[in-house]
Amino acid sequence: PPDVAALGRSSWTLLHSIAATFPEAPSRAQQGDLVSFVQLFSRLYPCWVCADDFQSYIAREAPRVASRDDFGRWLCGAHNDVNRKLGKPVFDCDKWQERWVTGPKD
Ligand code: FAD
Repeated sequence: PPDVAALGRSSWTLLHSIAATFPEAPSRAQQGDLVSFVQLFSRLYPCWVCADDFQSYIAREAPRVASRDDFGRWLCGAHNDVNRKLGKPVFDCDKWQERWVTGPKD
């Protein structure tokens, strides 16, 4: 079975990197692709308990894909939901771009 922590770190890197490079003004098709990707990802994620909880999160909080910042913040909320469950610090979502898009100021 996969190493759940290593899988998680690399998966969050992939997901936040997709958010970081998502268009600021996506077309309808790009928005549709992202919703489909998130839904399929949540069904195929190879940690079954993680996948179940991620699917429940998506059912409670529909993915927001109207813009890069919209999706980045939605994903930050999804990641924080897992952080809370695991007793990890909650991340300040106002800093998602600093962490994943621009890098820290100075
Ligand atoms: P990670 O949580 O992997 O975070 C990596 C980096 O992302 C951090 O160092 C930080 O810089 C940044 N970061 C942290 N929080 C945020 C945020 N909210 N927004 C933006 N950036 C942030 N593990 C389980 O044991 N049980 C589960 O049920 C579970 N479910 C998961 C569901 C999904 C969809 C994914 C992708 C992973 C899941 N994991 C689960 C794995 C878990 O979330 C962590 O990836 C793993 O525990 C390793 O944690 P970490 O401390 O290295 O940092």
